[in-house]
Amino acid sequence: MKEKCIGDIMKQTLLFLLVLSLLFAVGCTPRDEVQEPHTCSFTERNTSDTYIAEKATCEKPASYFYSCKCGKATTSLFYDGFPLPHAYENGKCIYCEKEQPDEFEGPDEPIELPIIPI
Ligand SMILES: [Zn+2]
Ligand SMILES: [Zn+2]
Repeated sequence: MKEKCIGDIMKQTLLFLLVLSLLFAVGCTPRDEVQEPHTCSFTERNTSDTYIAEKATCEKPASYFYSCKCGKATTSLFYDGFPLPHAYENGKCIYCEKEQPDEFEGPDEPIELPIIPI
């Protein structure tokens, strides 16, 4: 009984190793593809921090370098997202140096709409 159990464990271990080596072989394939020379086409708009050129400011959104599927990047830029609101520090915006308004004055006074006679 005991010997049979050990045999099963051995079989399972072998199967596990086989699966592992298969996975390893499959995992290697994309790496080989990358090593093959190819003409890079910088059409990927990857917005990960790896390709960031300039962070967003109040004047423009963040810019990124166009990249190739292989991971190489070019120097052409594209913008993604929206500009940030002004970031005031010591009374001035840290991006555009616009002076901070003294206080938020609330919405403008309501204006009288002209009454259009029917
Ligand atoms: Zn490429
Ligand atoms: Zn600003």
